[in-house]
Amino acid sequence: MNLNFNQSLAKNYTSGPQIIRVLSEAWVKDNGYCPNCGTQPLADFANNKPVADFYCATCTEQYEL
Ligand SMILES: [Zn+2]
Repeated sequence: MNLNFNQSLAKNYTSGPQIIRVLSEAWVKDNGYCPNCGTQPLADFANNKPVADFYCATCTEQYEL
C-alpha cells in the first residue's frame, strides 16, 4: 500500500478543499479495499453522486470518503 498522495494531481488546483478531494479520491481508488469483504479495488460512483463516493462491486457495500 502506497501511503503517499500523488501530489502532481493537485498542481492545477488552488483551493484547499479541492486539493484534498482530488488527492484523497485518487488515493482510495488506487489503494482502498472493501472492509466488509476484502475486495480491492473499490469502484467509484460518478462525480457528485449524492449517496456515496465508492462502492464494492462484490458485496455492493457503499462508502463515503
Ligand atoms: Zn465488499
